[in-house]
Amino acid sequence: MPARARKTPLHKSLTRRTQPRSARAPKRSHARSSPREKWVYLFDEGRADMKDLLGGKGANLAEMTSLGLPVPPGFIVTTRACNAFLAAGSRFPEGLWEQELAALRKLEKRSGRSLGDPDNPLLVSCRSGAKFSMPGMMDTVLNLGLNDAVAERLDADTGDARFAYDAYRRLVQMFGTVVLGLPDEPFEKVLEDYRRRRGTENDAALPPEDLKAITREFQRLVREHSGRDFPQEPLEQLRLATEAVFRSWNGKRAVDYRNAAGIAHDLGTAVSIVTMVFGNRGENSGTGVVTTRNVSTGERELEGDYLNNAQGEDVVAGTRPTLRIAALKAQWPKLHAQLEKHCQKLERHFRDVQDVEFTIEEGKLWMLQTRDAKRTAQAAVRIAVELATEKLITRKEAVLRVKPEQVDFFLHPQFSPAEKKAARERGALLATGLNVSPGAASGVVVFDADTAQRWSKEEKKAVIMVRPETKPDDVHGMLAARGILTSRGGRTSHAALVARQFGKPAVVGVSAMEVDLDKRQLTVAGRVLREGDTVSLDGTTGEVFAGQLETRIPDLSDPHLLELLTWADGFRTLGVYANADYPRDAELARKLGAEGLGLCRTEHMFFETERLPHVQEMILARTAEERARALLWLLPFQREDFLGLFRAMDGLPVTIRLIDPPLHEFLPSHDELLHDVTELETRLGLLKGKPETKGMEQKLAQKRRLLDTVTSMRETNPMLGLRGVRLGIHLPALVRMQVRAIFEAACQCAREGVRVFPKVMIPLIAHRNELRLEKETLEAEARAVMEEQGLEVAYQFGTMIEIPRAALTADQLAQDAEFFSFGTNDLTQTTYGISRDDAETGFLSEYLEKRILPENPFATLDQRGVGALMELGVKLGRAVREDLDIGICGEHGGDPKTIAFCHRIGLDYVSCSPYRVPIARLAAAHAALATS
Ligand code: ADP
Ligand code: MG
Ligand code: MG
Repeated sequence: MPARARKTPLHKSLTRRTQPRSARAPKRSHARSSPREKWVYLFDEGRADMKDLLGGKGANLAEMTSLGLPVPPGFIVTTRACNAFLAAGSRFPEGLWEQELAALRKLEKRSGRSLGDPDNPLLVSCRSGAKFSMPGMMDTVLNLGLNDAVAERLDADTGDARFAYDAYRRLVQMFGTVVLGLPDEPFEKVLEDYRRRRGTENDAALPPEDLKAITREFQRLVREHSGRDFPQEPLEQLRLATEAVFRSWNGKRAVDYRNAAGIAHDLGTAVSIVTMVFGNRGENSGTGVVTTRNVSTGERELEGDYLNNAQGEDVVAGTRPTLRIAALKAQWPKLHAQLEKHCQKLERHFRDVQDVEFTIEEGKLWMLQTRDAKRTAQAAVRIAVELATEKLITRKEAVLRVKPEQVDFFLHPQFSPAEKKAARERGALLATGLNVSPGAASGVVVFDADTAQRWSKEEKKAVIMVRPETKPDDVHGMLAARGILTSRGGRTSHAALVARQFGKPAVVGVSAMEVDLDKRQLTVAGRVLREGDTVSLDGTTGEVFAGQLETRIPDLSDPHLLELLTWADGFRTLGVYANADYPRDAELARKLGAEGLGLCRTEHMFFETERLPHVQEMILARTAEERARALLWLLPFQREDFLGLFRAMDGLPVTIRLIDPPLHEFLPSHDELLHDVTELETRLGLLKGKPETKGMEQKLAQKRRLLDTVTSMRETNPMLGLRGVRLGIHLPALVRMQVRAIFEAACQCAREGVRVFPKVMIPLIAHRNELRLEKETLEAEARAVMEEQGLEVAYQFGTMIEIPRAALTADQLAQDAEFFSFGTNDLTQTTYGISRDDAETGFLSEYLEKRILPENPFATLDQRGVGALMELGVKLGRAVREDLDIGICGEHGGDPKTIAFCHRIGLDYVSCSPYRVPIARLAAAHAALATS
């Protein structure tokens, strides 16, 4: 733009005389803020660590400015100003507007232009930006400062009417939708009409006269829909835009997003006012977004999209096919090299992968935003490991950068190569798009967010959300879907960003696919799929298949993950064990890094079809001999079970819990038996005396006997009844058999050269006498076996702590117990006095909905209550036996928050299901690093 002589800046007269009502500073602010508060920071006054106050976008713009990167001049209105505005019922706090005007004056001075001056206009953007990035969830208005007079003069001066009216029509549309809250559709429809008339898909191809006409129509739309004119006064535009950005903090989209992402609602957004630079100034201009590494795979390469002759959201909106950033290199190698240099500088400075917005105005590169890039779990792991290898961060930091939950991703389903090959061969491969968020998903096609949510929530269907492109309003549907599929958009499109953040498999930009939202169908590869038809998509490769493909759990052989977990192991002090009942689970657990078995439930083995009749025989036995016979039959089976476990865990401890559940669980239910008996009785009554009754009478007698036993064993509160150690005391022969099986197996293993360390765990102890009695009998049996076998193996007897009384008397228990293991499922149940089986499907969900309980205590350990008992148990136990080995084997053992707690109270290990072992290893490292 040619520099011209400056006239009196418009705002000077404005603030005095013509300032519109809405733009006048309020007389009194209701927010708790001092009138002298600094509400506005110039870019060179801020720093990256001021995100609380300046928002992520603003703070980083300031930081980039001080790094000497080419950032257009600007200033930031603080998040505190936003909060004060919202708290005061949409009124500017005292001093804010004056400070904005003062900062604006400085921008004008720096650029030699001034807002609203037709001869030499300054244009600015007004951008939202909270402490945590919420891509696209709040509002931004570009090209503020344009009005009829300025546009006309720009047109005449630059001779570039296309540019002038392209910028102006964008402003009127954004102002209408963002500031005045008008719907987007009528604007889009106007554009669509003009595109159709010119036979183009591309806004950039519209001639200047069209853009001018579009601007006029947009102004008409504003008038019609809002009952007011598009404001010609630039300062009024700025003021209203600032207010709109403040208000967008509480917009539905933003609130939904914060709920889903767990971001606090009281942070507020900052507002950045940035001098406009123009990517829509012709073929020498353009705009793009890059990440400094590939955020799907973690690979070290510049990755992103670019569009010539375009502005702002064009790239993200996915309305025009974008170019890969590699194409920019071919087009403008010098600019590409510059961009690469800036990106490297940013990565080194922020010590993390950055997500960068840039614009090229007539061959000059401008940097418009940088932030830590969102990435897939897979990329997070690789990036952390490689940044550490490149010495940009320490190993400790690398370990801390990956969330334990992200490890979970590696265990998510994928399609097996064989399955995909078969699908390809039967012609089910429909198309390939961009692989923007890895993982595999199958489900039924839905075409809008509300349907996606309804079908998924109410009808429990797996859905795949299909759209031409997604918008922030679609997020609730995307969250409800298993996977996301779009026909347009690039790697940085809204769909891709959201999918990656929430770990949803996604394929976008499937240009071969046509989505018809009116007919609710998609056409691809000559096939038509309607809403409700099944598709499968592979977000790792970008493939889309018709029909359902089987998924499988991958193995954990990702080399970067293995490396990271090895580093984690070096930092953690807490042991990680697994709960496993069968040798194959034990083997898996060991492969995933388990250092022992913390819980093997022996009763699971009793349920196997072959064994159950003998278990029932043992329960129903009328004499000691009958029972002994049944037990003798079971013994070799149990021995086999333990042999398998010991061999799998060679060299590592194996904790075996003696039988725990109430015996009626092994018998048919009371109701079922009662029904059978009544039915047999009725039928016998009808058939009285007939020959076919003979077999029935026998059957009836059998059922009656079973029913009698079950009736006699019936308890009102079975979970508080004859189970755990009580059962062992009641049926000593049963647990003696189990101990015999354990030690016979242990001796046999020892003979084979397997290093065994059995830990016999007695469940549900409430009183020291139970433990004392049980340990005495069982240890005697163990010694007897070892004597018979002429062999000694190391072993321990210990107890579960799963009843409050056990925790309260842990000092007494520790006199006999050589180890403790917190059974937090039962301990939660008994501490709360809540029956888990009933409550979780009943009142507990109501409690959670009403926020009476903050969390489900069966999922996340109640540290205040149950945790206090654990802490006491540890203290009392260790006071008596200093080296008392203590672990946890409830389901909580695999929950990262609980793991941190266990570390703090000094447990020796946590035990969890095999697939959570890697998660627990990382969580334990985090816990150690947090307290070191
Ligand atoms: P979001 O948070 O949704 O990304 P932004 O505030 O970053 O919103 O802006 C939206 C788009 O407009 C981005 O592509 C950004 O680069 C572009 N943009 C914002 N301010 C300017 C400016 N002063 N000059 C040119 N482009 C801008
Ligand atoms: Mg942005
Ligand atoms: Mg228990």
